Amino acid sequence: MTDNVPPQSLRALKDAGVFEIAWPDGRSARLPFKLVRCECPCAQCVDEITGVRTLRPEAIPDDIRPVGLDYSGNYALKIVWSDQHGSGIYTWDRLRRLCELSQT
Ligand SMILES: [Zn+2]
Repeated sequence: MTDNVPPQSLRALKDAGVFEIAWPDGRSARLPFKLVRCECPCAQCVDEITGVRTLRPEAIPDDIRPVGLDYSGNYALKIVWSDQHGSGIYTWDRLRRLCELSQT
């Protein structure tokens, strides 16, 4: 079972504007808030039928930040954003993938 492993630690560094996420295998990364907001997987941001992202990054303010973090069961993080958007559920797999993309 290596699927959807939760992070060892996850912190929102508001001054730096990033999430700092560390994984049990030692990998860690910083993800800018705006990047994570733009990757919101909810039905308002991604067309459920086609899978095409309908959210436009330019519609997201540069100073976007999380105002609420909630664990959704044991498998995901629910983030409420300063633009009032709060329907995105980020699975650990998704966050992990973002971490890996942001390091290349
Ligand atoms: Zn969304």
